[in-house]
Amino acid sequence: MRQAGRVVAAAKAAVALAVRPGMTTGELDRIAEEEIRRLGATPSFKGYHGFPATICASINEEIVHGIPGARVVHDGDLLSLDFGAIVGGFHADSAFTMGVGQVSPDAQALVDATREALRRGIQQARAGARIGDISAAVQEYAESKGYQVVRQYVGHGIGRALHEDPQVPNFGLPGRGPVLREGMAIAIEPMLNMGGWQTRQLDDGWTVVTADGSLSAHFEDTIAFTERGTEVLTATMAA
Ligand code: MG
Ligand code: MG
Repeated sequence: MRQAGRVVAAAKAAVALAVRPGMTTGELDRIAEEEIRRLGATPSFKGYHGFPATICASINEEIVHGIPGARVVHDGDLLSLDFGAIVGGFHADSAFTMGVGQVSPDAQALVDATREALRRGIQQARAGARIGDISAAVQEYAESKGYQVVRQYVGHGIGRALHEDPQVPNFGLPGRGPVLREGMAIAIEPMLNMGGWQTRQLDDGWTVVTADGSLSAHFEDTIAFTERGTEVLTATMAA
């Protein structure tokens, strides 16, 4: 899983460096797939329940699961990119949101708060803690900044499958839920909306948007509880 995490981190960095206004999300998808395969890994998402691409690319009011294609990213867009890779049968899963070109201060504040919500969730994540400790830390921070956390989509256990138990919600109460144990790995993935938490799925059967059309941001890391403590397997310098 450490190797899968390193591949995902490299793919995130390669795509983040490449993003320019005027590019299509399909071009970004190709860059990610080339990097993942160059490093000897396999994309996790391609073919997953029929998903047609290597990454998810979700723009502005799109929260998650956007399908890359001919859509062009423009200056001022909020771009959420989600990556998964398999090495030796083990998955890693990670996402980040970035502004394309210059984004509004409000949009940048949402991005910064979502990154910080993930950091606070990870701070609570250690063997012996409970899932609810993570959920509460994410929710409390997000709501303190005036944002709402998405309810319908949550983080998850990860390993030989992309999505395993337990669920890791971005809302909840400390001291509740399953206990984290050494040997487990989970993906923590706060999705913060500038407006309400309600979501809607588009007719493409994948793309999830905010019900009220407000902006949304998403950060995700895969972390493992090992003899070394809590390891963030998908960390990059860039994102
Ligand atoms: Mg993901
Ligand atoms: Mg995930």
